[in-house]
Amino acid sequence: MQFPIAEACVEIEAAKLMRHRACALYDAGQPCAAEANMAKYLAAKASWEAANVCLQVHGGFGFACEYDIERKFRETRLYQVAPISTNLILSYVAEHVLGLPRSF
Ligand SMILES: Cc1cc2nc3c(=O)[nH]c(=O)nc-3n(C[C@H](O)[C@H](O)[C@H](O)COP(=O)(O)OP(=O)(O)OC[C@H]3O[C@@H](n4cnc5c(N)ncnc54)[C@H](O)[C@@H]3O)c2cc1C
Repeated sequence: MQFPIAEACVEIEAAKLMRHRACALYDAGQPCAAEANMAKYLAAKASWEAANVCLQVHGGFGFACEYDIERKFRETRLYQVAPISTNLILSYVAEHVLGLPRSF
C-alpha cells in the first residue's frame, strides 16, 4: 500500500518543481508558457493519479458518498479538461516546444 502512495508523493513533488520553475521565470520577466503548460499537465496528472490510488486503497468505501472520496475522484478528473485540457497542453508542447507541424 505504501508504494502507490509514495509514487503519488513523488509525482506531486515533480509537479511542484515545474510550477516553481514557471513562477521563477514569470517573476524574472522571462517567457514561461512552456513551463506553465508543463506544470499544469504534471499537476493534473499527479492529482488524478493520487485520487486513483486513494480510491483503490479505500476499496468499496471509496464509492460511498459519505466518505467524499468519490467526489474528490470526480473533481480531480476535471483538471484533465479545465481550465485548459490536457490535449491542448500537448498540442502547445508539440508545436511550440518541439517545433512539430501545426495540426488542424
Ligand atoms: C467545473 C468547470 C468550471 C469552469 N470554470 C471556468 C471559469 O471559471 N472560467 C472560464 O473561463 N472557463 C471555465 N470553465 C470552462 C473550461 O475552461 C473549459 O471547459 C475548458 O477550457 C475546455 O473547453 P470546452 O469545455 O469548450 O471543451 P472543448 O474545447 O470542446 O474540448 C472537448 C474535448 O476536445 C479536446 N480538444 C479540443 N480542442 C482540441 C484540439 N485542438 N486538439 C485535440 N483535442 C482537442 C479536449 O482536449 C477535450 O477532450 C469551466 C469548466 C468546468 C467544467
